[in-house]
Amino acid sequence: MGQQTVCNLCGSAYTQVLLSARKQLHAPQHWVIYRLCKRCGLTFLDLDYTVWLATYADDMAEHSADALERYSAQEETETQSALHDIARLLPDIQVGRGRQMVDVGAGAGGSLRAFQGLGWEATGVEVAQAPAHFAREQLGLTVLQEPYTRATLKAESVDFLYSYHTLEHLPRPYRTLTDFYLHLKPGGHLYVEVPDVRDLNIYHMGFGHISMFTPRLLHQCLEACGFEIIAPLDRSWTPNSFGPGFLCLKPARAKTKELNLIRSDYLPPEQLLRWSGESAWALRWQLWYGFHIGRGGEAFSWRAPLNILWVGTKTAIKRVSPRSFAWLKKVFRS
Ligand SMILES: [Zn+2]
Repeated sequence: MGQQTVCNLCGSAYTQVLLSARKQLHAPQHWVIYRLCKRCGLTFLDLDYTVWLATYADDMAEHSADALERYSAQEETETQSALHDIARLLPDIQVGRGRQMVDVGAGAGGSLRAFQGLGWEATGVEVAQAPAHFAREQLGLTVLQEPYTRATLKAESVDFLYSYHTLEHLPRPYRTLTDFYLHLKPGGHLYVEVPDVRDLNIYHMGFGHISMFTPRLLHQCLEACGFEIIAPLDRSWTPNSFGPGFLCLKPARAKTKELNLIRSDYLPPEQLLRWSGESAWALRWQLWYGFHIGRGGEAFSWRAPLNILWVGTKTAIKRVSPRSFAWLKKVFRS
């Protein structure tokens, strides 16, 4: 069962179970328990992070060189798509001129190649050994193979930070955001993109997604860290990406010394956000529906046995009348 009941973002113990199910995450089966924090609105996976990190590293180690090459090429394509969207707000990004960019969660280096192609001096941070090794040895890129922490980079040393579907994999997202702020030069930019918790389906649930945001909650957290939001980027329509992205500025007059006040593991009480406004019931139904059918009805193909605890069994939805079933699909696809 779950290992912790404290919210990853604000540290509150005031949480409720949204969904509890058994799933073949890795071998052996794990209980997938998603909790909703009733204080800040984060949805988080109630699982021992050290266990998860070990299995993630094992999983990545199994990837062949061919698989890593395909993975890297996909990353490059996705990054080019993101850069295309970012450039509409920040045309300057298309000319790196040797400026420093860091990709936190660099995977197999595809994003670094996309930035290098535009003239950026690109560095990656990647915790998993296999992709980091591939990026260094096969692609000749600069990749630090370690967890991203405050000590990873020098303060105020980075012009552009790129965090593409990484934050949701981390156990202390607020600390990571304040580290982003610390490492950026004043006047530097951050692009952060995560999946939308409301799009969770059977593929994504438990797949290392331990800290899940709504767009509104992420927006509030970025502002709490001192970032100015240039614009939200809705990239949910793209084939492989399904989340809100935010292009942010660290203000040129930022007083980094004041960061000592906000640099903590959890969102400090004085920054505590109001309830993020998502109805727990709506989220719960959405998770349940996603677990069984998946948005768009295409995701229900997981081979592991499922066992839903508190809403009944896998067959429960079949007992719903066709009319109600159609209504449910309509509601959750919109
Ligand atoms: Zn919380």
